[in-house]
Amino acid sequence: MPLHHHLIAGERLRSNSTRSNINPSNTDELIGEFSEADASHVDLAVQAATRALPQWSRSTPQQRFDVLDFIGSEILARKQELGTLLAREEGKVLAEAIGEVARAGYVFKFFAGEALRIGGQAIASVRPGMEVITSREAVGVVALITPWNFPIAIPAWKTAPALACGNTVILKPSELTPACASALADIISRSGLPAGAFNLVLGAGVAGKALVEHPQVDAVSFTGSIATGKSIAQHCALHLKKFQLEMGGKNPLVVLDDADLPLAVECAVNGAFFSTGQRCTASSRTIVTEKIYAEFTAALLARTAQLRVGDALDASTQIGPVVDLRQLEKNLSYIDIGLAEGGKLLIGGQRQAGKGYFFSPAVIENHDAQARINQEEIFGPVTSLIKVKDFEQALQVANATPFGLSGGICTTSLKYATQFRREMQAGMVMVNAPTAGVDYHVPFGGSKASSFGPREQGGMAMEFYTRVKTHYLA
Ligand code: NAD
Repeated sequence: MPLHHHLIAGERLRSNSTRSNINPSNTDELIGEFSEADASHVDLAVQAATRALPQWSRSTPQQRFDVLDFIGSEILARKQELGTLLAREEGKVLAEAIGEVARAGYVFKFFAGEALRIGGQAIASVRPGMEVITSREAVGVVALITPWNFPIAIPAWKTAPALACGNTVILKPSELTPACASALADIISRSGLPAGAFNLVLGAGVAGKALVEHPQVDAVSFTGSIATGKSIAQHCALHLKKFQLEMGGKNPLVVLDDADLPLAVECAVNGAFFSTGQRCTASSRTIVTEKIYAEFTAALLARTAQLRVGDALDASTQIGPVVDLRQLEKNLSYIDIGLAEGGKLLIGGQRQAGKGYFFSPAVIENHDAQARINQEEIFGPVTSLIKVKDFEQALQVANATPFGLSGGICTTSLKYATQFRREMQAGMVMVNAPTAGVDYHVPFGGSKASSFGPREQGGMAMEFYTRVKTHYLA
């Protein structure tokens, strides 16, 4: 049975305690046993990153480019194999899994280029004879804590900019998806990066907490649930560490009377159900104006009924399994909550037979925008249908949650599309496109309770991974 370990100071290091990684499409299949870190392993990783910092933070842009470009090239060359691993570990269908791996490769390539573009400004001084320039420096030792739903793309979009800016890294991936992170660590260890500049610590929340609270960690970039994000924020604020949080969503897709109906249905199905609804940008609320409501609902249900749920590696599968039993039970419990508060289950919402955690995509009708089913993140293939009178009410309902990650509208009206883009309280707005599915080279993030701190990805990622220094020269 493959045994996978931490990567600390360039060496694979094992723990006595391990965790089994199970294929959610087939729970008889064990992918591997993975070491589980405690505070002592975390400390070793932080010491290694601290020792590597002086060398890596002074590396040239060319060295950084070469390392990141190497990593990106190998990921892209192996996207089929790594995509298969991802599909087995997380349950994303193979085509989506390969797409995620390719995204990770392109992210490294993008930040290889960004390493060459780190610069500052020359600003005219108000004083005669003085020159003012700004430069960007590495923040230091950074902790990267990632969730299970994008097991290679999220580690990539944190690791690549962190290294591009000269920081040293400790990555703590989700305990549910350590295999992709371990494969990434292997590639990074062959890239020419000095030992200790990148470290991988496997394990659960205990390891994540020890990492966040380690006094030599200068900054924390976190993606995951709001509860964990808040606990990280509290610690970092108290200890004056830089931090960045990407958290949950309750993303709305608004469908107006004038929408292109087949397009709107595709946007709804893709946004709500693809990747088994396990995307922070998934559309978990579908808000539809009354004149098109009956026709749209009938078309949505017909399309949902055609979706094939099954093994992520089966080429005919469109919706893979839920990641684990806990998430499956959460999905089922939200169906019960939805029904108990007066919602109508129009389709799906059942556990399906098989050796995996299969769950049929669900549509629940509940027009009360304040119902729990319309307010709380489920993180599964469940969308609620909410009927509204007109655009104004749709916008008001769309904004009526604490979250603000992504928001979409299907309309042929330029006026409403423009007003929606301006007034939707979200970090990302989509017109005639699903709420999920974004480019790899542009800023990503939310507003309100969905995110905190500078944006990730694209050129803006450098804001978090650098500090600005202002130089005065007389
Ligand atoms: P989670 O918060 O349970 O875990 C995320 C990571 O934090 C894991 O690595 C976990 O081991 C670690 N962790 C747990 N407790 C910790 C602690 N006390 N201190 C430090 N680290 C700790 O989240 P999850 O279930 O893995 O992921 C699902 C969530 O992630 C959803 O809410 C989803 O919306 C969110 N998500 C957000 C984005 C985004 O960019 N906004 C992207 C993907 C997922």
